[in-house]
Amino acid sequence: MNCIFCEIITKREKAYIIHENDHVCCILDINPINKGHVLVIPKKHYIEFTDVDQESLYNVIITAQKIANVIEKTFQADGITIMQNNGIFKDVDHYHMHVFPRFQNDGFSWVEPDIDVMEEDLIAIGKTLKTEYLKGDV
Ligand code: AMP
Ligand code: ZN
Repeated sequence: MNCIFCEIITKREKAYIIHENDHVCCILDINPINKGHVLVIPKKHYIEFTDVDQESLYNVIITAQKIANVIEKTFQADGITIMQNNGIFKDVDHYHMHVFPRFQNDGFSWVEPDIDVMEEDLIAIGKTLKTEYLKGDV
């Protein structure tokens, strides 16, 4: 398997490691949104968020919170953005969580497509998702 993050985790590839333990490895993103952009990566190789085991996921989110605190204080950030790309929207096929500092007018934005959603849509979507969730087979 040719996975750059597995290579980094096993120290066969260089990276700027901020923190690691048995479950996660945190590295600086080489192409940051802002200085201090960190990737929190589970040591086990999973491709998608929906595949990750609960212990890894727990360690990812707890570590992301600690990293967010460190980043916020270190860079006096105006905020922290946490994001995660899946499917065709990701570049690296090893699950990872982005944690990066935000500053007023830093140019990064969430572009919202112009979609009209009526109240009846919200009711119908809510009902469908509630039913699917309750099935418990996810
Ligand atoms: P995503 O689109 O969510 O899969 O993002 C992948 C991220 O990994 C990008 O922000 C890249 O800049 C970053 N990245 C790719 N290769 C490396 C690497 N060798 N070391 C650190 N960050 C990397
Ligand atoms: Zn991997």
